[in-house]
Amino acid sequence: MIKTDIIIIGAGPCGLFTVFEAGLLKLKCHLIDSLPIPGGQCAEIYPKKPIYDIPGYPSILAGELVDNLMEQIEPFQPGFTLGETVDKVEKLEDGNFLVVTNRGKEHTAPVVAIAGGLGVFEPRKPPIGNIRDFEDKGIDYIVKDPEKFRDKKVVLSGGGDSALDWALFLADGGATEVSLVHRRSSFRGHPDSVDKVMQMAADGKINLITDAEVIGLNGGDHLEELIIRRKEKGEIKVTIDYWLPLFGLSPSLGPIADWGLNITKNSIEVDTFDYSTNVPGIYAIGDINTYPGKLKLILCGFHEATLMVQSAFKTVYPDKRLSFKYTTVMGGISGFEDK
Ligand SMILES: Cc1cc2nc3c(=O)[nH]c(=O)nc-3n(C[C@H](O)[C@H](O)[C@H](O)COP(=O)(O)OP(=O)(O)OC[C@H]3O[C@@H](n4cnc5c(N)ncnc54)[C@H](O)[C@@H]3O)c2cc1C
Repeated sequence: MIKTDIIIIGAGPCGLFTVFEAGLLKLKCHLIDSLPIPGGQCAEIYPKKPIYDIPGYPSILAGELVDNLMEQIEPFQPGFTLGETVDKVEKLEDGNFLVVTNRGKEHTAPVVAIAGGLGVFEPRKPPIGNIRDFEDKGIDYIVKDPEKFRDKKVVLSGGGDSALDWALFLADGGATEVSLVHRRSSFRGHPDSVDKVMQMAADGKINLITDAEVIGLNGGDHLEELIIRRKEKGEIKVTIDYWLPLFGLSPSLGPIADWGLNITKNSIEVDTFDYSTNVPGIYAIGDINTYPGKLKLILCGFHEATLMVQSAFKTVYPDKRLSFKYTTVMGGISGFEDK
């Protein structure tokens, strides 16, 4: 049984920053995440994309932000249970929560902070019979490391920002051949990205195949060929190294929906005073929560984490007074350790 002050469900950027803010108040944290690595969406969906709205960083790669957060929380030595999904959260008679993962690992704490982001998310998969045979053998639903596609023949499918952005990036970033297949002739993505893709297509750097969709896959141990059906021009076969069907992620709250929390449109309702839920002792921060005016931005989640731990402190130490101090006044993290 792992015992701590705050169990954080979700090790995305907001869960990670909670460790820092809690650490300043001398509260210990343990993070649990279904993914095998910390970082949430930043690590899983877009580690190599630059983010432009993190205060103090004109531009930072999402993966770098995660690395920095890990460095920032290191002095507080948080615990991690990675690669396991929290299935059950239950209030015990002594007032603590029991948090159990799908592998039966048990954790207990007086406070639970849910930083579950989009919940458990699954890529939207095209309905092709043998698609599972080639997953991770030529089919990737998420681009984790674009270097993988250097000197390769890549076909992307999709009409949104993800497909457009990665087509542009890979066409500029060393793939031998980049094709973009889309069901329609118009794209849903950002107009600026659409213009750039059109220009690249006109320059012969992206092979644009519109009004078309991938309907068949051939290969042995690895995907080798796509069958593409074009509305008016018939079927073609294209030999490839990789196919990236980027049709977005379909988020689902997963087990979180069963923990007795008030939920609206797949998000947990919170009080913006301290981001508490309807269950005393359970808080929700970051993309997973909802309140009037909510924006799903990392910096908003950081703010929510900061206010949340002030309230959590009072639950963990009901008899102690909490006095607010700046990190500058305390002389850095080491200054906090002895206070
Ligand atoms: C392509 C893209 C670009 C973006 N660009 C920006 C940007 O420029 N600026 C910006 O501010 N934001 C941006 N965002 C949004 C930003 O990534 C999110 O706001 C942020 O990741 C939310 O952080 P979080 O910690 O709340 O949740 P997440 O990052 O979603 O992490 C939640 C974690 O909880 C885990 N989890 C969920 N349920 C369970 C469970 N039951 N048990 C165990 N683990 C669980 C998940 O596995 C996940 O790792 C972008 C998002 C995308 C997809």
